[in-house]
Amino acid sequence: MLRLYNTMTQSVDEFRPIDDNKVGLYTCGLTVYNYAHIGNLRMYVFEDILKRVLRFCGYQIRHVMNITDVGHLTSDADTGEDKMEKGAAREGKTAWEIAEFYQQAFVADLDRLNIIPPDVWCKATDHIPEQIALVRKLEEKGFTYVIDGDGVYFDTSRLSDYGKLVRLDAEGLKAGARVDVVAGKRNVTDFALWKFSPQGSKRQMEWPSPWGVGFPGWHTECSAMAVKYLGERLDIHCGGVDHKSVHHTNEIAQTESAYGHKWVNWWMHGEWLVLPKEGGEAAKMSKSSGEFLTLDYLIKRGYDPRAFRYYCLNAHYRQQLAFSWEALDAAGIGYNRLKRTVLDLRGQHRKADGPITKHMDRFRAAVEDDLNMPRALAAMWAATKDEQAPPGRRYATLVDMDRVLGLGVEKMEEEQLAISPEEIAKLIDERAAARKAKDFARADQIRSQLGAKGIVLEDSRGGTTWRRA
Ligand code: AMP
Ligand code: ZN
Repeated sequence: MLRLYNTMTQSVDEFRPIDDNKVGLYTCGLTVYNYAHIGNLRMYVFEDILKRVLRFCGYQIRHVMNITDVGHLTSDADTGEDKMEKGAAREGKTAWEIAEFYQQAFVADLDRLNIIPPDVWCKATDHIPEQIALVRKLEEKGFTYVIDGDGVYFDTSRLSDYGKLVRLDAEGLKAGARVDVVAGKRNVTDFALWKFSPQGSKRQMEWPSPWGVGFPGWHTECSAMAVKYLGERLDIHCGGVDHKSVHHTNEIAQTESAYGHKWVNWWMHGEWLVLPKEGGEAAKMSKSSGEFLTLDYLIKRGYDPRAFRYYCLNAHYRQQLAFSWEALDAAGIGYNRLKRTVLDLRGQHRKADGPITKHMDRFRAAVEDDLNMPRALAAMWAATKDEQAPPGRRYATLVDMDRVLGLGVEKMEEEQLAISPEEIAKLIDERAAARKAKDFARADQIRSQLGAKGIVLEDSRGGTTWRRA
């Protein structure tokens, strides 16, 4: 029995789809004005695990992911620059070029992490008529008002349950609100459905609408596209925890107002990847803070993208994951140990060898318990070490578990591990030279590169020695 945490009920509940064994899944995609950072990617690994667990449990999934390529402003309060135009200015390209480039980079990142692509990719700019139709519907029902020179807004005071996802207290919010950042907003929680292009200037991305030339508000796209591809009632909607109080809260308000009934059964949110700060609170990795790491950078430092995936699986999706190079190195070593084990066991596998029920049961119990991947990994390691069981059957067990883990067990190859002692010695010399020249970034990169091949370095006064992990 699959049990999943639902942000709406705040409890772990037995999962039941609306329609027999079919599951509709909508996941908020990337805002493509820059590369995805590894915090974003942690989120997409979580959603991939969810999808794989649903499949493992026998469900058929229809998965839709959007690409935000317009309308996401630098402030969640409907003010600030459009992130796309900001990205375009930074790189001296058009917003359209930026969107195309970073979307492709994002798709490539997902592929390298062995993330199963969605059935439908949809871009905000390809769905302007659908978004206008949604705003029209809300207007007809009396949920909107226009602020001259600014945009069309949703009047949240029309709803008695606005903010139910995060148990927002609308009265408390009203009393506590000091500044209303958008002049003319009736309530602090009101949000833009459609924004007008600034008077006297032309935006790169703008469209005519019944209210004036402009562009959709950020939340409008997800409601319009989710309903278009998955219908008026949805099984699961996911995103990061930062989406709960504004983005998803507003998606709920506008969709349920437009259609007059409950929209989503399960809301699931992934916790952040954070950067620990010495003597302070850990900070969310974010694009705007400037301090963000990309998958490309990890690869340049010698890490296998699958080792990053393995690293993500070591924490439950509802727990923050504190990033450190040491932790990533440890994950890299664990991943290599798995590879070595897989290769050893595979050599003794025969066609008739099936998975071991005892271990599969333990694994299933873990993944069905709100995707408890740390426990699932423990079950996986226990299976590898089960000396009572024939090696071929242990291999078959790993292959079966990999339907969820997605670590690429069947594709693991010897050469990915191989490195000769001569090559190691050369890299150790190069690292010593880099340290002497105080090029610590290069020195760290070499250490990681060797770590990724399962080689651990030990520094002492006498020099550096190495061993296989
Ligand atoms: P964005 O491109 O800002 O729309 O973000 C894409 C997705 O990544 C959203 O679901 C965010 O909630 C999620 N996200 C952003 N930063 C982090 C982080 N540091 N850790 C985990 N998820 C994140
Ligand atoms: Zn969204």
